[in-house]
Amino acid sequence: MNYPELALHVDGQWLRRASGGERKVVNPADASTLATLPLAGVPELNAAADAAARGFAIWRRQSAHERYQIVRRAAELLRQRAAEIAQVLTLEQGKPLAEALREVMLSADLIDFQAEEAKRLYGRLVPPRVAGILSQSVIRQPVGAVAAFTAWNFPVNLPARKLGSALAAGCSVIIKPAEETPASCMLVVRAFLDAGVTPQALNMVCGVPEQVSTTLIDHDAIRKASLTGSVAVGKLLGRMCAERVKRFTGELGGHAPVIVCADADPAFALKSSLAAKFRNAGQVCASPIRFYVHRSLYAPWAEQFSAGAQALRLGPGLDAQTQMGPLIHSRRVDEMQRFVDDALGLGARLLCGGRRVERPGYFFEPTVLAEAPADSLVQRREPFGPIALIQPFDELDEAIALANALPYALGAYAFTRDLHTAHRLGEEIEAGMVGINHFGVSQPELPFGGWKESGVGQEMGAEGLLHYTEVKTITVGVPA
Ligand code: NAD
Repeated sequence: MNYPELALHVDGQWLRRASGGERKVVNPADASTLATLPLAGVPELNAAADAAARGFAIWRRQSAHERYQIVRRAAELLRQRAAEIAQVLTLEQGKPLAEALREVMLSADLIDFQAEEAKRLYGRLVPPRVAGILSQSVIRQPVGAVAAFTAWNFPVNLPARKLGSALAAGCSVIIKPAEETPASCMLVVRAFLDAGVTPQALNMVCGVPEQVSTTLIDHDAIRKASLTGSVAVGKLLGRMCAERVKRFTGELGGHAPVIVCADADPAFALKSSLAAKFRNAGQVCASPIRFYVHRSLYAPWAEQFSAGAQALRLGPGLDAQTQMGPLIHSRRVDEMQRFVDDALGLGARLLCGGRRVERPGYFFEPTVLAEAPADSLVQRREPFGPIALIQPFDELDEAIALANALPYALGAYAFTRDLHTAHRLGEEIEAGMVGINHFGVSQPELPFGGWKESGVGQEMGAEGLLHYTEVKTITVGVPA
C-alpha cells in the first residue's frame, strides 16, 4: 500500500507540520487510518496568499507559449504517474481502481486542452469612432491570485480543472482540496511543480474550511475564488466574494433528471443508466437521480433497473471485482438512511437496497425508490449517493415540467429515437448540460457548469479559461 506522507505547499516549501494542528485521513473501504494531514493555521494561510501575490508577478511574465509548454508537461507527468496516483486516489476516496485510472487520464487530457486554449486568448481591435485615435484594443489578462476549493468526489479531476486553467491563463493559485482526500491533490500539485511552474505561484493548504476561506478571500492578494462543492458552501463563498467585489466561480450540486421517452430503446437506456447512476457510488454532481420513464415502458424497466442495481458487486476499490465502492464517510451513510426512511415514511416503494451494508467501511446498498412523493427529502435535496428515484409519466410536457421543477440545474439527460423530441428536450430542459442518448457531458472540450442554484460560471472548454481572465480596453490617441 503506497500512501504518501502528507504535506502542504506554501511559498515554495513542503510543510509536514503547520500551526493549525493535524487530522487523520481515513480509508473509506475499511475505516483504517492512512496518514496524518498537517493543517494550516492563519500564519501559513497568510504566507500562502503573500507567496501567491509574488508568484503571480513572476508567472504572468512568462509568455503564453512558455506557460503552455510547462502546463502540457504537467499533463504528461500525470500520465506517466497515473498508476501510482490512481492507487492513492482509490485508497483515500474509495472508487474502483479502473474509475480512478480513467479520472487521472481524463484530467491529463483536460489540462492539455486548457494549455492549448490559453495560447488563443485573443483580443480584438475595434475601429475608433472619432479622429485622432490610433488604436482601440480589447485584451484579456490573468485575473490574479486565485483561491480554489475542491470537493472529495473527484480528487484528481477537480484540482486539475482549476490548476490547469488558472495556471495556463497566467494566474497563481492557492488550492484547498477536501481534507478527506489531500494526497491526490498533492500529487497533482507535485506534477505541476516538477513540470516547472514557479513554486510561489502554486500553493496547497488544508485546514479548517471556514477559516481557510475567510482568511484567503479577505486577503488583498486574492482576486478570485473558485469552488467545486455544495450549494450551501457556494452561497457562503459567493457572499464573501460579493462583499469584497471579488470574482467567483461556483461548480455546485445537482439533482439530474433522466427522461426515458416512449420511443427510446429501453435496453440501451437501461444499460447506460445503470452504469452512470452507480459510478463513484452516485457521488457525482451530474449523477442521474430522477428517472421519469414513459408509462408504456415503466413497469418492466423499473424492475430490470433494480435487478441490475442489486446485482452490483460492492467492495474495496482496489479489489478488481468491485463495481461499486464505499461512500466517503459514515455521515454520508447516515444521510442515505435518512433519505430512504423519510421517503418510505411518505409512501415511496422500495424496489431494492435501502440499508447500510454490515461490513467494515462506509458502504450503502444501491437503492431504487419508486414514486417517492414530491415533498420527500430525496426529491428536493441532492442525495449524492447510490439512490435512484423512478416514476412514470404520460405526456412529454409533464416530464419536462418535472425535470425543471427544482432549483438545481446542472446535468440532465433523456433517451429518445425521435430527432424532433431530442431537439425539443435540448431546448426546453433547464440545465447547464443536457445529454441525449448518453451521459458523457463532462469532456475536456466542453464547458461544464450549472444554471440556477447549481452554479455560477463554467469549467473546461474554451469558456472555462475565460473565467480566469479580466477584460481590459486600451485606447491610444495621437500624441499632441
Ligand atoms: P462541500 O461544499 O461541503 O465542500 C467542498 C469543498 O469546500 C471542500 O474542500 C470543503 O472542505 C470546502 N468547504 C466546506 N465548507 C467550507 C467553508 N465554509 N469555507 C470554505 N470551504 C469550505 O461539498 P462536499 O460535500 O465536499 O462535496 C459534495 C458537493 O460538491 C455536492 O453538492 C456535489 O454536487 C458538489 N460537486 C459539484 C461539482 C460540479 O462540478 N458542479 C463537482 C463535484 C462535486
